[in-house]
Amino acid sequence: MKPKHLIISALLLLFAHCFINAQPVKDNGKLSVQGAFMVNENGEPTVLRGVSYGWHNWWPRFYNKESVKWLAEDWKCTVVRAAMGVGPKGSYIDKKAWSKEKIEAVINGAIEAGIYVIIDWHSHEIHQDEAVSFFSEMAEKYGDYPNVIYEIFNEPVHDSWEDVKAYSIEVIKAIREKDPDNIILVGCPHWDQDIHLVADDPITGFNNLMYTVHFYAATHKKELRDRGDYAIKKGIPIFVSESAAMKANGDGELDYKSWDKWIDWMEKNKISWITWSIADKNESCSMLKKSASDTGSWGENDLKESGIETRNRLRSFAD
Ligand code: MG
Repeated sequence: MKPKHLIISALLLLFAHCFINAQPVKDNGKLSVQGAFMVNENGEPTVLRGVSYGWHNWWPRFYNKESVKWLAEDWKCTVVRAAMGVGPKGSYIDKKAWSKEKIEAVINGAIEAGIYVIIDWHSHEIHQDEAVSFFSEMAEKYGDYPNVIYEIFNEPVHDSWEDVKAYSIEVIKAIREKDPDNIILVGCPHWDQDIHLVADDPITGFNNLMYTVHFYAATHKKELRDRGDYAIKKGIPIFVSESAAMKANGDGELDYKSWDKWIDWMEKNKISWITWSIADKNESCSMLKKSASDTGSWGENDLKESGIETRNRLRSFAD
């Protein structure tokens, strides 16, 4: 082949590669839950992998469609999570319109980029009336988009699954009035550690529910995976909507051995996973440095160790 033809062929291949990888929603369509698995439109178990934005009230600068596009194309995220802060001063409770604007920038960016997006009610406490009205509005607006997944309670700090369950049922009802089918992620007590309580008493009467387990690999190990195995055996669908490699306080060294054990476990069980977080706070779980632009196009110099390693892992699964 002449050099010129070689270059053209290589460019075409590169283009085709980018194009094929950049269409997770087109490839999988509407997601649903069958038994313990999330499946695509053809009924095949489907694993999503991506990252969570940090609390929108503290890291609003990254909430734009350009950064979503970058995470889809360069990091090969098939899902991103918009973490709408609920509780601290300046979060959803006292800045509703501004908060929705930030979250919707990420939702619309994901729809444009052809990836899935989690609308995450990033709260540790129950704010039931606000959650019911927020999710009702989101379900009405976005319920027809296959891209959208609702996460109705990030990390309950409560001891009682009964309380979290009662709250969840009310929010699920509000969503299902407007949107009969998109997946809903439900939290469980103690920062999504108590999946065994869910396994013994799951919510019934609604379709397409999954339950969240969160891990920080230097803190959470086999004991939490054992709880997960117990739940899976009972047919409970799990989604790891937040995870990272360091201790549960989000800081300190990355525990690669434990992190990779978790990834093996999730992949073996076809569990989707999301790494925390797109933020530039001075802590090891925040994946970006202060130099990172608001809108993506980040070079390796803009990424912290957790950013580089997360990106590597996500890209390795895309090939
Ligand atoms: Mg729908």
